[in-house]
Amino acid sequence: MDGEFVPWAEARVHVLTHSLHYGLSIFEGLRAYETPRGPAIFRLHEHIERLFHSAQIVGLSMPFDRATLSEACCAVVRNNALTSCYIRPLCFYGADGMGLHTDHLRSHAMVAAWAWEPYLGEEGLRKGIRVKTASFRRQHSNSALCKAKASSNYIISMLALQEARMAECEEALLLDNDGFVAEGSGENIFLVHGEQLATPDPACILDGITRRSVITLAGEQGWTVQERRITRDEVYTADEVFLTGTAAELTPVREVDGRRIGTGEPGNITRQLQTDFFAIVRGQRPPPEDWLSHV
Ligand code: PMP
Repeated sequence: MDGEFVPWAEARVHVLTHSLHYGLSIFEGLRAYETPRGPAIFRLHEHIERLFHSAQIVGLSMPFDRATLSEACCAVVRNNALTSCYIRPLCFYGADGMGLHTDHLRSHAMVAAWAWEPYLGEEGLRKGIRVKTASFRRQHSNSALCKAKASSNYIISMLALQEARMAECEEALLLDNDGFVAEGSGENIFLVHGEQLATPDPACILDGITRRSVITLAGEQGWTVQERRITRDEVYTADEVFLTGTAAELTPVREVDGRRIGTGEPGNITRQLQTDFFAIVRGQRPPPEDWLSHV
């Protein structure tokens, strides 16, 4: 917290913390994986870069520079002797005053890490999950800044997920204001028709780092990925559908709105991309670029 290591139980903030009241904070989610050369953070540089972009977008001044925050992410893994874990940096306004103006507020930074199971479940990773299209829309880029990983953006995600869980599905699919497919509540989405992959163009979704990685890995296999507008019925008729995200990793989807996807089991392309992804993050195969930062 603000440059100091603090035991879990003492990592507290005041109840008048500005970000708690008005929701202006920005964060990242990263994962470290166990590799033969010790724990390594997947695409640390890209996550820190996106954090700084989020700060720039919402006008929050960063209390530390990129190198310091990158080192904090490594140190929190190292000092907690974690091998594989999830890492959560958050930058927020403190308790210096209430009201909506932010010019008098100091910003703070914290980084936490903990062991975290696959977000959509171990069984979800193996067998696929059930998804429901949400009645809530992915915020329009006029009213929410969709390239910022801002806490306030997640209200709609949480409402969509509540709705999906009430319908006994594991995840929600959000459409954009024009009715085109946008993303999951915390993941990007890919469809496979034959050997053709498609994913929504990044105009009004979070530009996922796992998404970018999967596009690279698909290219290595000779599969092209179209980044374009996708309709809901294309999802229903896809041979394979999967979600990507740091928490969810690469999770197959076996059902959308009560319709079975393909055979109802993870397809070959999904499986191959999962294999490639996990081999790289676990240091069992060299990444195509400098994707691993050993802590
Ligand atoms: N979309 C949303 C709304 C998300 O919260 C996330 C998770 N950060 C993603 C997509 C996937 O992004 P990434 O692969 O960078 O984790």
